[in-house]
Amino acid sequence: MQLLLMGPPGAGKGTQAAELVKKFDIPHISTGDMLRAAVKEGTELGKQAKVVMDAGGLVSDEIIIGIVKERLTKDDCKKGFILDGFPRTVEQADALSKILEELGIKLTRVLNIHVPAEDLIERAVGRRICKKCGATYHVKFNPTQKDGICDNCGGDLYQRGDDNAETMGNRLAAYEKSTRPLIEYYQKVGIYTEIDGRKPIDKVTEELISVLVK
Ligand code: ADP
Ligand code: ADP
Ligand code: ZN
Repeated sequence: MQLLLMGPPGAGKGTQAAELVKKFDIPHISTGDMLRAAVKEGTELGKQAKVVMDAGGLVSDEIIIGIVKERLTKDDCKKGFILDGFPRTVEQADALSKILEELGIKLTRVLNIHVPAEDLIERAVGRRICKKCGATYHVKFNPTQKDGICDNCGGDLYQRGDDNAETMGNRLAAYEKSTRPLIEYYQKVGIYTEIDGRKPIDKVTEELISVLVK
C-alpha cells in the first residue's frame, strides 16, 4: 500500500501516520522529521533547512526531492509506505510520479485530512513531542498522564521552535499558495479522498482505515 497523507500544518498527519504504521506495518516517511533530524545532526542540509523552517517557508524542491528519492529506493519501501508532508508543491508531485514510475509502483490513495484554518494554530501551538520516541501529544486534545512526560517511554516532551502563532501564519500561507493546488491535482488522478479531521483522533483513524480496507 503506497499512501500519501495530506493536510495543512497541524491537521494530524503525523498522529494518524503513527496509527497507520501500527495497522499496516509499512514505513512512515515524514520529510519534516527527516529535516529536523538533519538540523539536529548539524549537516550542511540541516543548516540550510533550519533557516527556512524557522521562518515557516518551504525548503527548496530540489533538496526535498533528492532526500525523498533516496528514501523511497530503500528496501523497506517495497512493502509500501506512508508519505507525510511530501509533496507540498506541484513540482514535488510531478517528481514523485516520476520516481514511482521508475520504481514501477503507483500511489494507492491520497488521503487529505481536512481541518479549518481557525483550528490549526491552536493545534500547532499546543503540540508537544517526545524527545526520545517522537510520540506526538497535545496539551489540551491529547495530554499525557504526567505533565511533560511521555506516556510511551517516560521521555521529556518538547515544543517545536516553529510551533508558534507567528510562524504558523507563514506556514499556513505557504500551504494555501503552494500545497492546496495538489488537491485538484490528485482529484484529477482519481485517487483522492477527503477525511474530516475535526473529529477526535480515534474517529479520524477509524475513517482513514475504513477508506483503505474497503
Ligand atoms: P507540519 O507537520 O506542521 O505540517 P512538517 O513537520 O511536515 O510540518 O514540516 C516542517 C517544516 O519542514 C515545514 O514548515 C517546511 O519548512 C519543511 N518541510 C517539510 N516538508 C517539506 C516539503 N515537502 N517541501 C518543502 N519544505 C518542507
Ligand atoms: P501534522 O503532522 O499534520 O502537522 P500532528 O499529527 O502533529 O499534525 O498534530 C498536530 C497537533 O494536533 C498535535 O498536538 C496532535 O496531538 C493534535 N491532534 C492531532 N489530531 C487531532 C484531532 N483529531 N483532534 C484534536 N487534536 C489533534
Ligand atoms: Zn516517548
